[in-house]
Amino acid sequence: MTIGGSCFCGAVKYRIDGKLHDARSCHCSMCRKAFSAQASAYALVDPGEFSWVSGEQLLTTYAAENGSGLQFCSRCGSTLCGIVDGKVHGITLGCLDGDPEVTLGMHIFVGSKARWEKIPDGVPQHDAGPTPKVTGNE
Ligand SMILES: [Zn+2]
Ligand SMILES: [Zn+2]
Repeated sequence: MTIGGSCFCGAVKYRIDGKLHDARSCHCSMCRKAFSAQASAYALVDPGEFSWVSGEQLLTTYAAENGSGLQFCSRCGSTLCGIVDGKVHGITLGCLDGDPEVTLGMHIFVGSKARWEKIPDGVPQHDAGPTPKVTGNE
């Protein structure tokens, strides 16, 4: 399938020739700041299936020393994607256009969510990362 996305001002557009997977919402304190919201909501993409359609020159990258970070439109501020080693790795669900055929499958880092946030029931919640420990009792 082909999935499209764009920023708030419409200058930056991308397409995905494939599928999104592992959609999740992260409630950690860093995501709250980076997304100016109660949580981030994003899905993972195969970097080989992602391409910019327009406005790539408007992208600004904010990255940590380990090379992972975010790319956003310098004109309107929409956060479009997360990058790992300079490659697009995660797509913010808010900037997708149309029906991307994914639904949020989990809430992560719920243990550090804002005190004012109430997460609706019905989707699995994890106190920390997306892979719960399966090693049993400690
Ligand atoms: Zn924009
Ligand atoms: Zn987070």
